[in-house]
Amino acid sequence: MTHYSDGMKGMGAPVIKGLWDSHNKMVMEPLDTNDPEVYDIIKKEKRRQTLGLELIASENFASRAVLEALGSCMNNKYSEGYPGQRYYGGTEFVDELERLCQKRALQAYGLDPQKWGVNVQPYSGSPANFAVYTALVEPHGRIMGLDLPDGGHLTHGFMTDKKKISATSIFFESMPYKVNPQTGYIDYDRLEENARLFHPKLIIAGVSCYSRNLDYARMRKIADENGAYLLADMAHISGLVAAGVVPSPFEHCDVVSTTTHKTLRGCRAGMIFYRKGVRSVDPKTGKETLYNLESLINQAVFPGLQGGPHNHAIAGIAVSLKQAMTPEFKVYQTQVLANCKALSKALVDLGYHIVTGGSDNHLILVDLRSQGTDGGRAERVLELCSIACNKNTCPGDKSALRPSGLRLGTPALTSRGFLEEDFRKVAHFIHRGVELTLRVQNDMSPKATLKEFKEKLEKDETYRDALTALKEEVEAFAGGFPLPGLPVL
Ligand SMILES: *Cc1c(COP(=O)(O)O)cnc(C)c1O
Repeated sequence: MTHYSDGMKGMGAPVIKGLWDSHNKMVMEPLDTNDPEVYDIIKKEKRRQTLGLELIASENFASRAVLEALGSCMNNKYSEGYPGQRYYGGTEFVDELERLCQKRALQAYGLDPQKWGVNVQPYSGSPANFAVYTALVEPHGRIMGLDLPDGGHLTHGFMTDKKKISATSIFFESMPYKVNPQTGYIDYDRLEENARLFHPKLIIAGVSCYSRNLDYARMRKIADENGAYLLADMAHISGLVAAGVVPSPFEHCDVVSTTTHKTLRGCRAGMIFYRKGVRSVDPKTGKETLYNLESLINQAVFPGLQGGPHNHAIAGIAVSLKQAMTPEFKVYQTQVLANCKALSKALVDLGYHIVTGGSDNHLILVDLRSQGTDGGRAERVLELCSIACNKNTCPGDKSALRPSGLRLGTPALTSRGFLEEDFRKVAHFIHRGVELTLRVQNDMSPKATLKEFKEKLEKDETYRDALTALKEEVEAFAGGFPLPGLPVL
């Protein structure tokens, strides 16, 4: 067999005609015929998303327009640097795009461009956070964020007794703050006390599993007392903030980071907002101190941590931000909250305990200890019945290895048009899943491990019919709702 490159040897190498023609055909061919293997996997995933009940609080279904922008030629363009100052040529239109995206980002959150700037290049939420830390905190400087088992995010500095898990805790010194194990609310008094001892350079106000509004004003006071920066990481709630249905962190913070694919319903990416202009005025002399965050943040993102921006993602963010400024988006986010309250109430009526007793936002944490089971087992049974959610630790859990709760969120299904009545049905499906979990568990030794539980679920014929029946009902119900996105994939 002649290899393609054989034909290229020597000067004026004759192209192997047949291969060259088929190469030219290959790059023009649609996915279904060009790569049926990947096409089929995507089709299967589309089917799973269509037929399942998506209750993972961090997920959403991006709109068709967002996915079209994401799948565009913007993917092809390198443009290291910032609009007007690039290290590449041919950036006229990506400059226009990035400036438009920045403008919309400030508009969507009602920010004055004299007082706030934004970087829309972070590849996702985690790199955005690391860029903020790198920009504002010296190596091994001190950071305080909500502990992961209490609802914080990994990137807020998670570590265990044995191991520093997050890079944040490896390259910076992290001391977590916690929720009150009785109430489930953040213990701001302890945070204040510990901050006085620890003297953090940065305090993070942000959550991945916490159903209540944060007290940004209180955290601002604690930060000021210690000369610390206050970062809000609004990754989970950025869509709710844009719609104005939960309190905005901007008034109280120096920097705000976010993802763009959760409640904001854009593509997977991140953004960092930073203050500009006057930071403080000396009351005696009237002398103004200015913020210097703009260059620190921008340099941390590029060239500090990243290379070329993902211009297709910036296009996707821009489209989602335009949508986020519409009255329709406000209706959507209002419904997200109403649905969350309906789901919470329906579960309470079925005898469940909700951590903190309810929710101000798009998610709830269901504590399964009073049911006599835990998150890991229930999550697995629900998954087998096409209901997707996360196991999560609850306040007071003895071991992170056996989390006793389930985190349930309403953004994704609300994007499919679910209303309160639909979420009451969802609550009943979940209840049936939990009852099935208990049935299997009661047939086993109380000491059985999660692994043994899962094996029994898979192998034991006894539960097959009940699992199949629930799955079929769930899929018939979910399949009746439209799925935002591209028509075929
Ligand atoms: C999801 C999340 C992130 C990280 O986002 P990725 O895009 O997954 O890297 C950061 N912070 C918080 C609070 C989050 O919930």
